[in-house]
Formats: sequence, C-alpha cells, structure tokens
Amino acid sequence: RPRVLSGIQPTADSFHLGNYLGAVRQWVTLQETHDAFYCVVDLHAITVPTEPAALRRRSRVAAAQLFAAGLDPERSTVFVQSHVREHTELAWVLNCLTGMGEAARMTQFKDKSAKFGESAASVGLFTYPILQAADILLYQADSVPVGADQKQHLELTRDLAQRFNHRFGDTFTLPAPHILKEVEKITDLQEPTAKMSKSSSSPAGILDVLEQPGPLRKKVMRAVTDTGSEIAFDEENKPGISNLLRIHSALTGAPISDLVARFEGQGYGAFKKEVAEAVVETFTPIRERTEKLLSDEAELDRLLSIGAGRARAVAQETMAQVRDRVGFLPTA
Ligand code: ATP
Ligand code: MG
Repeated sequence: RPRVLSGIQPTADSFHLGNYLGAVRQWVTLQETHDAFYCVVDLHAITVPTEPAALRRRSRVAAAQLFAAGLDPERSTVFVQSHVREHTELAWVLNCLTGMGEAARMTQFKDKSAKFGESAASVGLFTYPILQAADILLYQADSVPVGADQKQHLELTRDLAQRFNHRFGDTFTLPAPHILKEVEKITDLQEPTAKMSKSSSSPAGILDVLEQPGPLRKKVMRAVTDTGSEIAFDEENKPGISNLLRIHSALTGAPISDLVARFEGQGYGAFKKEVAEAVVETFTPIRERTEKLLSDEAELDRLLSIGAGRARAVAQETMAQVRDRVGFLPTA
C-alpha cells in the first residue's frame, strides 16, 4: 500500500470549511487505499505565540474532530506531532541542508509574519517548512493531501529529499502533493480572494466545523457577493459567487454547470440558502460526534497514544538510517 501523510495545526478551537474540503475529507477517503498517517502538528502551532492551556485544548479538539470526520483509529495512524521526538531531530538535520535564500523564498512566512513584522516573527516560523519536510520524509510518504497553499512547501520537501539522497545515499521517498483542484483554495466569505484561514480570517469570513447552525446560516447569507445578480462561475469578476458555487458543488456533488443552469434568473438569496443548508448538514454530525469524543478525554488520549506508538515505530526506523548516513556515531 502506498503511504500517505498529512497534518493539521491546533491553532483554533475548530477546523473550518477550507480545512475540511481541502484536506480532511481527502484524508478520510485515502485511508481506504493507503497506509495513512495523520498528525496534529502542535510543534508547528507554537511558531506563533500560543497559550499552553489553549494549545492543550485545541490539540484534543483537533484530534476529536479528525475521528469525528471519519478517520478510523484502526485504519489510520492519528497522532500528535510532539509525541514523536524524531520530528524535531530530523528537522535539525534538514535545517542544515537548507539554504538561507531557499528558506527565505517561502511565501507563507512572508504572509504570516506580515502581521507582526518580519523581525518580530520567530525563527521557528521561518523554519516551519523545514519541520514540515521532516514530518513528511520521516514516514516515507508517497502522497501528501493538502490545499494549494502548501504547494511551495511540498516542492521544498522534494528538493530536500533529493539533496539528502544525493549527498548521503538513497534514504527518502520523494512525496507527491495530492491537491484536488476543485477545493484547493476555499476562500474567506468576506474577502473572497483570500484563503479561508484559522489564523487570519475574521469571524464573519470563516465557517467553523464546530459552529452552531444559526451562525453558519447567517454567515453564508451575509457572504460578500459580487456586483450583478447572476449566478455564474467567474473567478476573476465574481470571486464571491464562484467560491459559494465551489462549496455547494463539493458538498452536494452537483456539478457547477448544473447549479448555474438551475439557478438561472433566481438571484443570490435562494442559492445562498441551499449553500447554507449543505454546510449545516455536513457539519452537524461532525460537531455532535466531536462533542461526544471530547466528553471522554481519557479515551481520546488513549487513542492518541496508540497512534503515537505506531508512528514512532516508523519514524525511529527512518531516523536510525539518517543518523548513520549523516555520520553520527552509534550509541553503545
Ligand atoms: P493557519 O491559519 O493557522 O495556518 P490554516 O487554516 O491554514 O491555519 P492549517 O492547519 O495550516 O490550517 O492547514 C491544514 C490543511 O488545510 C492544509 O493541508 C492546508 O493546505 C489546508 N487548508 C487550509 N486552508 C485551506 C483553504 N482555505 N482551502 C483549502 N485547503 C485549506
Ligand atoms: Mg495554514
């Protein structure tokens, strides 16, 4: 079985629709055909200032949501990144193979540090993509299901894998991004050219999986739409309606062209109402299952420690090879 790995940051109290459509839904599908590893990347979360209590809570919420969305702890290895020490160890080795200029080209750092100014950003935020490369390469992943925003990081990961293999001998599998065009970038409801994001979307711009139906409906109804009243797919001139079309289609399975034909001459209201219902119908069962899973923390922690054990077995094997190839002395 080919192997798949992906991760999600515990940087908010819920995942949003972009995380669900761009990543998590694919994770669930891929566990059927792949040897699947999925992690809650808490080491990534601390690249921006984080409260310990919030991090703890959000890590459990993230894990619960993954199971609630359909990850099966038997078939998928679901774990917390910091439980497997090899992530940081491999990241160090890869740090030493990455050029300063190469790291400085990463646009996510530019976007995320713009908020507080580049010089106030942590070095961890700067080296984030290198830790991400370690996450992927440790598991010898063939495929990495992500949204379009991670394309550049995946390219760096492949470059680092190739560089290591070239310099030290064949060690790492070259991973390929698994990006579904139709859902690669779900945009902010209030700012329909920007990606919906846990850390930068306003409350009105983001649809959280754990949100109640009332606010979800309200936000969809108030989503920024474009001039004119025609339902048409046009990213350039109608980014707001195009985003809602993409969401409707992804959630209901209806092709965008059918939706456009069906809503011809109807204005935005009726269309938005259907989008809202599709979102509520998708999120409600996930929210209910998440709440149930969170009511038994001991059980959730037990599932995560089983995941960590399985992940460690693979990570340790890769890391032993890396240490040897790099020239570190074995311990007695
Ligand atoms: P943050 O703002 O803290 O970076 P995020 O919303 O970007 O949070 P991540 O945890 O960084 O979420 O990303 C988890 C996964 O979700 C990644 O694979 C990412 O590519 C995907 N993803 C995030 N936002 C979107 C989006 N708007 N559309 C499609 N996929 C997305
Ligand atoms: Mg992100």
